[in-house]
Amino acid sequence: MTNLVTDVAETVATHPDSTAIAYRESELTYAEFWERAGRFAQALDDRGIDEGERVAIYLPNLPQFVTAFYGTLRAGGIVVPMNPQYKAREISHMLGDSGARAVVALTDLVPNVREVRDGTDVERIVSVGGNADGATEFGDFLADDTREVVDRADDDVAVQPYTSGTTGTPKGVLLTHYNLAFTTRANADVLPDGFQTSDRLIGTLPLFHIYGMSVVMNGAMYSGGTYYPVPEWDASAVMDQLEEDEITIMFAVPAMFNDMINQPDAAEYEFESLRFANSGGSSLPMEVLDRFEELWSVQLNEGYGLTETSPVTHANTNENRRKGSIGQPLEGVEAKIVDSAEFHSADRSGGSGPPEDEGFEEVPRVEEGPIDEDETDLHAVTGELVVHGPNVMKEYYGLPEANEEAFTDEDGTRWFHTGDIGYWDEDGFFYVVDREKHMIVTGGYNVYPREVEELLFEHEDVADAAVVGIPDERRGETVKAFIVTTPDAESTPEDIKQYCLTNLAEYKHPREVEFVGELPRTTTGKVQKFELRAESND
Ligand code: ATP
Repeated sequence: MTNLVTDVAETVATHPDSTAIAYRESELTYAEFWERAGRFAQALDDRGIDEGERVAIYLPNLPQFVTAFYGTLRAGGIVVPMNPQYKAREISHMLGDSGARAVVALTDLVPNVREVRDGTDVERIVSVGGNADGATEFGDFLADDTREVVDRADDDVAVQPYTSGTTGTPKGVLLTHYNLAFTTRANADVLPDGFQTSDRLIGTLPLFHIYGMSVVMNGAMYSGGTYYPVPEWDASAVMDQLEEDEITIMFAVPAMFNDMINQPDAAEYEFESLRFANSGGSSLPMEVLDRFEELWSVQLNEGYGLTETSPVTHANTNENRRKGSIGQPLEGVEAKIVDSAEFHSADRSGGSGPPEDEGFEEVPRVEEGPIDEDETDLHAVTGELVVHGPNVMKEYYGLPEANEEAFTDEDGTRWFHTGDIGYWDEDGFFYVVDREKHMIVTGGYNVYPREVEELLFEHEDVADAAVVGIPDERRGETVKAFIVTTPDAESTPEDIKQYCLTNLAEYKHPREVEFVGELPRTTTGKVQKFELRAESND
């Protein structure tokens, strides 16, 4: 049996006195944490919330999130994690769609739940006292007794996260115990010597998002290591903590690593205990990777995944990595680059791909990546990345059409379409060029923003950059770069434009360059490109 709860129960049995969660001055041992989760589970039962029902968690990264998460699973329930930055309007869809019966919310966020509760199935709001800084306990919610673990089958749904909705209404993703327990094990294999009981994992990634939840929290609880929740990202505070708490493992997103290397006193830090660093969630600019390794002599490995794949499908490891690549598929996961009809029907350039009914063909591998994108006919070597494996979601919740589009059945194998454009090489490494939906079509040419962004990051005056397509009467779309400059930068937008013109094919260079104070990002560090596009349309 491969089940998130039985995994943790085993850790609790073998390491009852190890520290499970450390937050500020307080620490919980595995025995203490498990007892609380059991009392949480009993409280759900006392309030008539049954097995198989949904409990939404609307909390920042706090110890209470971990208790509510495993408490819900112990009770045989399904966790619906919600971004604590979301306002009433944004959570209304998740509560209505999921049919959540209870919501665990920070006291400060409870009014948002109340505002949209009518018309939903929410019967109970569990308020976690205080604000993110001073959250206390669960009020009088926890029961006096602990509930026995309710058995769940591997195939039962454990968590129902929602996609971020940058491309439409957020979709509920059904992830089973098996999906998540598989990922935890497969991730452990990515680390040198696996997760260790002595590991200390920094929890900067938000727990409502699958990356922080699955890779960091589930990983820590599976290994018997210590999880350090961080409710709010602050690069310098986290860098202090990496040293003080002798953190051994850091999974984060490129925006976090970029913030770290840009701290004025970055070179003064020494992360002596850090034995593994991994970046995922969006593409890691090579400049950021190199600078991180130069500053702290810790290898920074890139991985890749999606909410729908629990999340990791590919990773580089300390022993086996290729810079610029997302790595190789995890053991047990299959992946390939295909020239699918679905992919080409979405190709806004009009598509030179096969007609609808020709379907699914593998794109030939390049000899060895990464390729020089300027020198290569990208259309010939790229296609859509599709994956198959035990980590792939059961389905989207209640969305038959989306499910139909997301999967292709090939000789009994169910391939999931990632919507990302990439290529693969003969050594088995995969490369993501960009998201299909981010591709810019300008005057009939395809431009992948990531390539332009990589170049911008190499410029000494650029601290952060994002490239989008904006409407243009003549070319359909034109390339625009938004740039955050370094504090002592001297370049003008025109200088940056010239720099791109010197280093890129003419059609790829940004015809517009705008300097901004910061880029709009999601809590998971992704640039909200739709906002940048909308801003440019105003
Ligand atoms: P939505 O699907 O609603 O737009 P989202 O894309 O933010 O939401 P996630 O599941 O968080 O949902 O993100 C998955 C996407 O993140 C992938 O499809 C890919 O585009 C991007 N991504 C993740 N890791 C990498 C990486 N290493 N390099 C490039 N892109 C990555």
